[in-house]
Amino acid sequence: MRTQDFLETKLKKIKNIAPDITSLDLRMLLAHVLNMEASEVYFAKCELNSLQIEQFESLLKKRIEHCPTDKIIGHKGFYKYEFVVNEDVLSPRPDTEILVEVTSALIARENIDNILELGVGSGCIILSLLADNPNLTATGIDISNKALAVARANAVNLGVTQRVKFINASWFDNDITAKLNEQYNLIISNPPYIPSAEIDTLDDEVKCFDPKIALDGGNDGLRDYRQIIKLSANLLNDGGFLIFEIGENQKNDILKIAYEQKLSSVEVLRDLSGTERCIILKK
Ligand code: GLN
Repeated sequence: MRTQDFLETKLKKIKNIAPDITSLDLRMLLAHVLNMEASEVYFAKCELNSLQIEQFESLLKKRIEHCPTDKIIGHKGFYKYEFVVNEDVLSPRPDTEILVEVTSALIARENIDNILELGVGSGCIILSLLADNPNLTATGIDISNKALAVARANAVNLGVTQRVKFINASWFDNDITAKLNEQYNLIISNPPYIPSAEIDTLDDEVKCFDPKIALDGGNDGLRDYRQIIKLSANLLNDGGFLIFEIGENQKNDILKIAYEQKLSSVEVLRDLSGTERCIILKK
């Protein structure tokens, strides 16, 4: 069967059992089987053989069981780059691209040459910033060694290993300041920020396949912001920036915590869906 007919028939069939699965999901899964780009697969003039169909069906089964497509095929496009992903890291979200876009422009405009990221996960934020800015060096910490393995693989793929240092640590470690032992002009973080009681209400794609440790922000979702703001007040040089991804309706609470630590607010930006998603603070 030709790829185009195959995809159209499949999409019709699964509409009833799994309405969330999109035509793009199917194209990406088939592209993975055929070792092609998702953009090529629809018009590829090739016949699928039975082995390829069998392989596709086994990937589709995982998707129907709610595994997100990027975690089935092992990579995801984010901002301008492609990242290796697996179940040890939070899937990069389009919502987070605004954070990278404004931070990258800020780094270029202010000639910032050394930054810190708290909670690197796949590395999609810190590594995008390094790939965009050839004079930048960076330190990234993560509590998960498995996540750091993914970030290291992505650093190799983006050709920035010489400019990044990864440390397996938590911002709650007593000796975290000593471990870092540096001052920074910019600190960035997309910390866990979902209130613990809301984790169960998230989509299966998120709650079953993203690491809980990357999502759960404690009782009120603000536990990690409190600690990171306190820490950053010490680790930032005067005039340095602290940039956060934030959850829905968290802006006012986070600003209050920031003001208590003598940080001021520079800007709040919305993501592509119009939700306030990125906050820029200054020491
Ligand atoms: N934005 C993610 C979500 O809504 C959460 C990411 C995070 O907690 N940092 O699932």
